[in-house]
Amino acid sequence: MKKRIVLFKGQTGWFMTPEFIGDKEELLKGPAGKSCDENWAMIARKFTQAKTKEEFSKMSAWAQRLYHDGAAPAQSQDIQLYSLPETLPDEVLVVYEDLGATGIQILANCSVCGRTHFLVYRPDKSTDASLQCLSCASKLVVRGTLPGPDAWSDALDMYRKPAPSYRLAVPEDFPSIQKALREAAEKKQICEEDIASAAKTWLADSMKDSGAASHMNAPVKILKIVGYSGDEFIYQVMFRDWSTAVVRARFLKSLK
Ligand SMILES: [Zn+2]
Repeated sequence: MKKRIVLFKGQTGWFMTPEFIGDKEELLKGPAGKSCDENWAMIARKFTQAKTKEEFSKMSAWAQRLYHDGAAPAQSQDIQLYSLPETLPDEVLVVYEDLGATGIQILANCSVCGRTHFLVYRPDKSTDASLQCLSCASKLVVRGTLPGPDAWSDALDMYRKPAPSYRLAVPEDFPSIQKALREAAEKKQICEEDIASAAKTWLADSMKDSGAASHMNAPVKILKIVGYSGDEFIYQVMFRDWSTAVVRARFLKSLK
């Protein structure tokens, strides 16, 4: 019987559901009196759609109601701040907060007067991200880089386009890498096939997501904006087989 938990990665922290033991199929073969109405694939698919902490909390309560135990009264547990469980689960599903729905809040500190400010990027594209302290007009200190207003607006446009408007990249989308590989190959007399396979390996490694690596060139539905780092937005995308991946903007190519 598999033990599973679901984590929510939100801007204010990580949260976790109680442990789910088994699913419909597994409990059919398990102890008498226990059952579940759905298989985990379906439960996971629903969880993935939760955009906010509140939606995640509701989904957790919904999932708990799918489980029935003839010997114990049904009771629902609230989601909790994440802490390492005593026994490690067999499977962990991570659900991301959708910044496209909630916007972004970034904490900034004034190094002169010490005041704390929130820099805000809203889903309606408006931003309040001045780097000047409201109290003393000094420059605020922020960890990492901030998206410019145009970048935020462009990210929201990309997020809202009807699916499928984007596909995952293929090595041919990065001519400079192809060229570098070809130049290296000429020196070592590597054949064309090996260059193609090296380019594929390079792309798979760069995307840093096994789901993405196995879906090159596949059309995607952009599910969520999940982060911003290194001057780039990061998206969670879904493929036609319902599996998902988390990828940087540079790996999503317009289908038009
Ligand atoms: Zn200040």
